[in-house]
Amino acid sequence: MKIIMLGAPGAGKGTQAKKIAEKYSIPHISTGDIFRANIKNGTELGQKAKTYMDQGLLVPDELVVDLVVDRVNQDDCVNGYVLDGFPRTIPQAEALDKALKELGQKIDYAINVEVPDENIVNRMSGRRACVDCGATYHIAYAPTSKEGICDKCGGGLILRDDDKPETVLKRLGVYHEQTQPLIDYYTEAGILKEVDGTIDINDVFAEIVKILGE
Ligand code: ADP
Ligand code: ADP
Ligand code: ZN
Repeated sequence: MKIIMLGAPGAGKGTQAKKIAEKYSIPHISTGDIFRANIKNGTELGQKAKTYMDQGLLVPDELVVDLVVDRVNQDDCVNGYVLDGFPRTIPQAEALDKALKELGQKIDYAINVEVPDENIVNRMSGRRACVDCGATYHIAYAPTSKEGICDKCGGGLILRDDDKPETVLKRLGVYHEQTQPLIDYYTEAGILKEVDGTIDINDVFAEIVKILGE
């Protein structure tokens, strides 16, 4: 099962992608996580990506596409995968389609998690990420059992620099301009599925399971 998660920054793509990966035993591939790991490890890719990410801009397509195509060709992806944060532009979607076509493969579902802009800043300012394992929480909607400490690994929690309100507004603008057109792209491809992202995390997941099957 090959799945793409679509939605504004903070819509809940990562939260749902992790649940999908667990239930259906497929890898969760987050381009944001890949870039953040590269930044942490001080790689050349990380240094290049950081200048864009800090400004709330997209990393150029040529730095993203090959990375994802290589990743989905790895052995653990034979039964599928859930892509979170990729594609984010029409050229990225076209490049992915082309690469998959050459392998005789295709994406099965593009799931759009719908959350209005008004809710997004609130979502992002409350988001906390574990510095060690990358787990994501929300101070009000998905709190840890001990404040400031990751439930999964005991690591410390931070507010991502790009989740501060100024950068979030910039990212939302970029989303509407460059990523939202993918909704029409995947509607035309006949694989778009919409879910309401404003309801409780587990209820959103139940809607997704209805689409993907038990
Ligand atoms: P969120 O989950 O909040 O939408 P991500 O972790 O997916 O954020 O992405 C963080 C940043 O990483 C983006 O703002 C962008 O700069 C960069 N990024 C991630 N994926 C892509 C991509 N497919 N194309 C270009 N830039 C990307
Ligand atoms: P994305 O990957 O789309 O940027 P995340 O999955 O990281 O979004 O979610 C953004 C923030 O909102 C996180 O703090 C997460 O815990 C929280 N969140 C995710 N889904 C919901 C939901 N359905 N209701 C309330 N908060 C949510
Ligand atoms: Zn952790």
